[in-house]
Amino acid sequence: MTVGRTMETSGPVASDACRSLLQQIDSEMAGLGPLYGQIGLDPRVLEAMAAVPREEFVSADEIPYAYANIPLPIGYGQTISQPFIVALMTNLLRPQPSHVILEVGTGCGYQAAVLSKLVRQVYSIEVVEPLAETARARLLRLGFTNVAVRCGDGYDGWSDHAPFDGVIVTAAAPFIPEALVEQLANGGRMVMPVDRGSEGQMLLLLEKNSSGEVQSHDVLPVAFVPLVRKHLG
Ligand code: SAH
Repeated sequence: MTVGRTMETSGPVASDACRSLLQQIDSEMAGLGPLYGQIGLDPRVLEAMAAVPREEFVSADEIPYAYANIPLPIGYGQTISQPFIVALMTNLLRPQPSHVILEVGTGCGYQAAVLSKLVRQVYSIEVVEPLAETARARLLRLGFTNVAVRCGDGYDGWSDHAPFDGVIVTAAAPFIPEALVEQLANGGRMVMPVDRGSEGQMLLLLEKNSSGEVQSHDVLPVAFVPLVRKHLG
């Protein structure tokens, strides 16, 4: 795809730094070859990323690095994910305009903002209260009005708004939380990293078919912060 051409039609004009980052993601993705569940990078994912100003989601110190393809610290020992991983996870969800998505691990709200450009509604849960409050205020200020943020333990999901067409977890758990699988709609997709101890972390894609049966597939080795339990965190 031609990233520059697509972005001219997608609202705010992305900076050169942003354009170059998106081109890098596009070619890195192509270079990886076939990954489970990937059917090529949807140009809408890159358009959504071009329309979200990443520099607004990081602290003043990190602004010079906002369009580098690296994770950045956001305080409280947490990080905003690497843009490549944001693109990959968003693409794996295959978001559609009618979708309602659950995110676990709001962090600074960047991933939620990207998703909000692609779906009808995003519900996002963050366990660290000040991060949840800051992300909620930031998303509102920047006009991402179809994202609701709640402070809580994402292991339990958000049953009030279930079922979800997609679930994305942006921190690594040692197992797949049952509530999240239950709250996934039939035909839905869930993307999450699991921590397999000495084997490291693996990004998983779970697919729930129309009869409610779930299949899990390994996608790519990854490195995320841990998904903590609220009473421990
Ligand atoms: N999606 C985020 C990345 C956040 S890093 C972004 O775009 O910035 C992962 C986040 O998960 C951290 O903010 C961490 O506090 C949060 N987290 C960890 N355990 C959690 C849990 N049990 N429930 C909800 N959030 C959790």
